[in-house]
Amino acid sequence: MTDTLVTFASGATEGHGTVVASWRHESFGPLVVTDQTPFHPVDHTWPDQPGDVGRCGDSPVIDTVMAARGPEGELAVGSAIPVKRGEDGWTWWVAHRLAGGSDLPEVGATMSLQVNTSRRLRLSAAHTSCHLAALAMNRAATRLWRKEVRVDSLGSPDLDQLAMASSAMDEEGSTDVYRFGKSLRKRGFDSIRFSEELPAIVDEVQAQLLAWLASAAPVLVVDDGDTRITALRRWTCALPDGVADMPCGGTHVASLASLSRVEVDYQMAQDGAGLTVRTTPRVAA
Ligand SMILES: [Zn+2]
Repeated sequence: MTDTLVTFASGATEGHGTVVASWRHESFGPLVVTDQTPFHPVDHTWPDQPGDVGRCGDSPVIDTVMAARGPEGELAVGSAIPVKRGEDGWTWWVAHRLAGGSDLPEVGATMSLQVNTSRRLRLSAAHTSCHLAALAMNRAATRLWRKEVRVDSLGSPDLDQLAMASSAMDEEGSTDVYRFGKSLRKRGFDSIRFSEELPAIVDEVQAQLLAWLASAAPVLVVDDGDTRITALRRWTCALPDGVADMPCGGTHVASLASLSRVEVDYQMAQDGAGLTVRTTPRVAA
């Protein structure tokens, strides 16, 4: 048994796969695992980007999830997987969740696999915009740090990673929730000034995003040739001021030329201890 090989990192949305497992799950319904797939699954531990939908043979795929086969042959799906992705002794699968009444294909059958491309494009645009907005926020907030902390790939204090509570993409954009708590203040972050200077920070972020989009920089998901679903992949974007780079399991547009605009909306929590960033891209015609 081997981990599923995935092609979504290169932007693929169609392909073929040989069925290696298919079963009817009591809550997920019919699930099909193929040896390789262009479908992006929602991660079971950090569910930021939703699973792809599309078609597997003649059947609609209504979601794509992670499945794992344990050392004793036990099968677990989605959040019921008891270990972290990549844990030794487990086989890691991408499972296509078919519409309720679908027939289960037999093991060994070859299936055509077609991702819904317009939805994938919108999710990819949301994911790329989310990373750009995070880097722009890190840069705009640089002056609010009184101590040295870890920096992002462009050299700014990594507020995004240090304060991130959750991140979720949808077809319209992304919603990122940050916590500005006691531990962040101890690290030297002035969240009170962040709140006071919010309008100026948002303006700086917006201007930075415009400048980056104008560069039409290429975006790549780098997997160093390892196409297993468990491989560590990195999002990279060759911006004019350096190569942005961060770990990422999602899908992305091929170039910033695919985005005509990215807008951010910042909402501080009532008590000032948190921030919600809504990022919305516009896909270029
Ligand atoms: Zn990502």
